[in-house]
Amino acid sequence: MRIAVPSETDPAEPRVAITPDMVRKYIGIGAEVVVQSGAGLKAGIRDADFEAAGAKIAPSGVLEGADVVLRVRRPAADDLTGLKPGALVLAIMDPYGQEAALQALAGSGATAFAMELMPRITRAQVMDVLSSQANLAGYRVVIDAAEQYGRAFPMMMTAAGTVPAARVFIMGVGVAGLQAIATARRLGAIVTATDVRPATKEQVESLGAKFIAVEDEEFKQAETSGGYAKEMSDAYKAKQATLVAAHIAKQDIVITTALIPGRPAPKLVTAEMVHSMRPGSVVMDLAVERGGNCELSRPGEVVEIEGVKIVGYLNVAGRLAATASSLYARNLFAFVETLIDKDTKSLRVDPNDELVRATCLTRDGAVIHPNFLPKVA
Ligand code: NAD
Repeated sequence: MRIAVPSETDPAEPRVAITPDMVRKYIGIGAEVVVQSGAGLKAGIRDADFEAAGAKIAPSGVLEGADVVLRVRRPAADDLTGLKPGALVLAIMDPYGQEAALQALAGSGATAFAMELMPRITRAQVMDVLSSQANLAGYRVVIDAAEQYGRAFPMMMTAAGTVPAARVFIMGVGVAGLQAIATARRLGAIVTATDVRPATKEQVESLGAKFIAVEDEEFKQAETSGGYAKEMSDAYKAKQATLVAAHIAKQDIVITTALIPGRPAPKLVTAEMVHSMRPGSVVMDLAVERGGNCELSRPGEVVEIEGVKIVGYLNVAGRLAATASSLYARNLFAFVETLIDKDTKSLRVDPNDELVRATCLTRDGAVIHPNFLPKVA
């Protein structure tokens, strides 16, 4: 069985889908590993490190004869030229609203898996790329906020006078938001947070932050059975926006992380709210790739309005490329291991396995995932 790791084709993607540690693990389960020359450089891994772990390094043509292709991002059809029909391709596929790209993926003959669709069940926790990457993004976004903010985070009592602690408000308390709360607290900020899922109140408080939300009947029912946020009614959104508006005016840093699976990110911070913040304040929009939680954020840009910075960094987990690659590569290995027959050391993909059903997008030249079937005209 041959595992191939081509270089990422998007120049803005510094992560890599395998590390030397995981090369050893794949070899340990009977695979051979080919890594494209330079694939790990932006994540701090040299070809020689991969070679020392037992991988072959190839300047090109890594897909030749590959049974499994590991990537960070969804490959374009061009990236899969020469792929063996039926070879497995694993990546963060970003499948929503990407009908043409999924058709192209199917056309390449790949059996493609979207790692971000992994069910959040106990067995699959170790394969949960959303969590591993969101956790790092939640940490990094606070570090980036501290860099953009022209003042200190902790309260400082000095001979020259007292410096007040920064006030940080986290909107959306999933995996990223929880890590952002913990990180901002560690830096000494006064932290508040909000979410539409009632279960988050206790989590916020257990991290030493204060919970801010309209806690009415709708709020008490606002979680799906899968643990995700529901889209809230317009009436709830209006009540919550009034509460949040008054709160944001008093904050130094607002970090937004709110997402609803398969939908555009909810708009939570209006232009008016930004105008209410004092100069020097910062809004960090972690949802910018999904349309943004702030009306004024722009993907990949730092917008400055009346002295308030609205930061829309892309691929925030990628800003910690080495750590993000290491966790992502472990997530991938844990899944690939389930697709291998231990006795024959060859691939055996069970189409009825819960994890395969949840993540497999394309097979035998067609899109097969029920959520992404082509629309019939
Ligand atoms: P996410 O990235 O989908 O969303 C981030 C947060 O934004 C969520 O907490 C969501 O409730 C919140 N949000 C959505 N709309 C909002 C709004 N209008 N205002 C404020 N907040 C809003 O979430 P996630 O980090 O992927 O976590 C989602 C769920 O999955 C959580 O219940 C989490 O505990 C759970 N989870 C389970 C596992 C597991 O069991 N393996 C692993 C990770 C996460």
